[in-house]
Amino acid sequence: MSDIRPRPSVRRTLPARKRIALIAHDGKKTELLEWVTCWRETLADHALVGTGTTASRISRELGLEVDGLMSGPLGGDQQIGTLITEQKLDLLIFFWDPFAPQPHDPDIKALLRLAALWNIPVACNAASADFLISSPWLDKTYEMSIPDAGAWVADRSTV
Ligand code: PGA
Repeated sequence: MSDIRPRPSVRRTLPARKRIALIAHDGKKTELLEWVTCWRETLADHALVGTGTTASRISRELGLEVDGLMSGPLGGDQQIGTLITEQKLDLLIFFWDPFAPQPHDPDIKALLRLAALWNIPVACNAASADFLISSPWLDKTYEMSIPDAGAWVADRSTV
């Protein structure tokens, strides 16, 4: 049975200049490139990071600076998950392909779990990405709750 006790939380402030991750599966890369093209000027004001192939295509084809991590199937999704866990990421734009099975499906699930856990705003398609990128908080600081990692460890120190 799952533990439904409320979990202690702490406040986290997202910075005005957001750190935004961009990821697209192969079947969704064209769609993400089109979306990035529409929001190019807005995105240029923030710090962009992406999985290897996605980042390289955005940089090469659109001239935006994107910090490229490992390609998704080689561990890039896990690297983005690490950034989330370390509070070094603020938004996740992840166009995952609902039609294509992926070899790194466990990594994708893990990334989406960490985003949910750490209260990271996530967009998985163009319409939700439009809403997210046009949010009034995009270029302002934003206060939110995240799990209290210290209390979590203290609570479990006797197990
Ligand atoms: P890629 O990775 O940007 O290197 O293609 C994305 C993915 O497939 O998860």
